Amino acid sequence: MRLSKYFVPTLKEVPNDAVVISHILMLRSGMVRMLSAGIYSFLPLGYKVIKKISEIIREEMDAIGGQEFHLPALNPREIWEETGRVEAFGDTMFHLKNREYVLAPTHEEIMTFHARNVVKSYKDMPQIWYQIQTKFRNEPRPRSGVIRGRQFLMKDAYSFDTSWEGLDKSYELHDKAYRKIFDRCGLKYFVVGASSGAMGGTGSEEFMVKSSAGEDTVAYCESCGYAANVEVATSRIDAAERDAESKSIYEISTPNVHSIDELCDFLVIDETQCAKSRIYLNNDKPVLILMLGNDEVNETKLEKVLGGNIRPAHPEELKDISGADAGSIGPVGFSGRIIADNRLKNANNMFSGANKNDYHIGGIDFNRDIPNIEYADLRIVQSGEGCPRCEKHLEVFPAIELGHIFKLGTKYSEAMGANFLDENGKEHPIIMGSYGIGVERVMACYIEQNHDANGIIWNKLLAPFQVHLLGLNLKKQEVSDTCAIIYNELKHNNIEVLFDDRDVTAGFKFNDADLLGMPIQVVIGEKKLKENKCEVKVRKTGERFDVELSGLMNKVKELLG
Ligand code: ATP
Ligand code: MG
Repeated sequence: MRLSKYFVPTLKEVPNDAVVISHILMLRSGMVRMLSAGIYSFLPLGYKVIKKISEIIREEMDAIGGQEFHLPALNPREIWEETGRVEAFGDTMFHLKNREYVLAPTHEEIMTFHARNVVKSYKDMPQIWYQIQTKFRNEPRPRSGVIRGRQFLMKDAYSFDTSWEGLDKSYELHDKAYRKIFDRCGLKYFVVGASSGAMGGTGSEEFMVKSSAGEDTVAYCESCGYAANVEVATSRIDAAERDAESKSIYEISTPNVHSIDELCDFLVIDETQCAKSRIYLNNDKPVLILMLGNDEVNETKLEKVLGGNIRPAHPEELKDISGADAGSIGPVGFSGRIIADNRLKNANNMFSGANKNDYHIGGIDFNRDIPNIEYADLRIVQSGEGCPRCEKHLEVFPAIELGHIFKLGTKYSEAMGANFLDENGKEHPIIMGSYGIGVERVMACYIEQNHDANGIIWNKLLAPFQVHLLGLNLKKQEVSDTCAIIYNELKHNNIEVLFDDRDVTAGFKFNDADLLGMPIQVVIGEKKLKENKCEVKVRKTGERFDVELSGLMNKVKELLG
């Protein structure tokens, strides 16, 4: 492809509405343009990458027996009513004005609809059906470029089995295919969530990459691969120490002391001797939560322990509930349910609020002084804490979901009446799985992980072109003749080549070549040509070679591996 005839509107400046690096580089390299918030047009160079990723996905899906479908994105709303998901998606689902149609945010219902009509017997299964199709979701804050679009491409697959063991098999196949896909794309990823094993029906795993653009926060151990969303992550961390002897409780006047840090300064104690109080309302009933020192309450964990509705009490409600305002609340004399984090198990000689403004209590023995105390894991893990599975340590960082594999079980088949007859003529709901990959996300995450200050660094599988051919001064006949010969020879050898034949300065061409990031650059200039040589640069390492023209094809092939 000749760059002079190819629409690649590169930008020198960073577009001011872009903050995420992949977004910036996709705009600057002329691969995408925004149409409106969360809606992007792919230009020819960017679309080439999308097609390459899609092809890798297709190959690996076909390799596990997947059959490619192409379902409509425009769906009758009533099919989505069958599973109650019009309500479940709420504002995320795009509705058309005539109310009879919706734009599909995913395709479980439509695949189940087809299965219901054709998969009638145990003999018809297993099946793996997939597609690479546009999805529509009205994401509330699309601000990371194509990473979170309102329209995006998803590879979504669905498995149909007669037994839970069959589902386990289909799930395993997808797990392996996903690893191959992401490995081939050259992504560094990790897997969050444990499969539930046999008969689970609810196992699910998310394939994630570390990214500042991520909206999930995960705890990850590089050593053993432990990975969990912070909402559920645990860690190895010391509990409060129990002294040999418990003092009796005593009240201390602590004027203007409100935080754990102020209490530690005032009493000259360590934060591990303090229990911090937080009041939540659980179905309108107050519950006192105690955390060690400055540990923070993980509301997802708390929700699981309490069940029902929870919310933190408002500041103005605290006095009525406990007798004191924030900063002076504590467990001694508190009437209501009290749950302490596991780090406080059996603690004694602890300090906490006195339920009286400007007073604290010391010498608290949790088991002696707090009747009916309960303990649970309630804290948010922090970077640097011990991994719960090995001797190493956790890192906590934002991450983004690339793909998701999920044992649906019979949720959709039961809701929609997709049943099959077994060997004995008995009817059962089909056992299903669903498996998604965000195609644009794969591309953006690759760029997040593979770039430098000058631009993108493509590997040979995702690169829109393998070779970027730069003719430096094409007005010189020998330069333009040599470029034409090399250009044709590369194409002849089935090596995709982008030829910068534009009438612009050498510096401009070099900058664009680094920005666009093809793996190999071949530079044809007057000086080297006099010795029948050209320069070959490897984009990733910056290595440069002077290469005889006669050996160029071999050198390019060698470098491309
Ligand atoms: P997220 O939590 O990031 O919103 P999700 O849980 O909604 O993701 P799924 O419904 O499991 O995602 O969709 C499958 C895959 O589709 C995701 O793993 C992701 O790669 C991709 N995806 C989901 N939402 C978007 C989006 N708004 N833009 C681009 N890709 C998306
Ligand atoms: Mg989502």
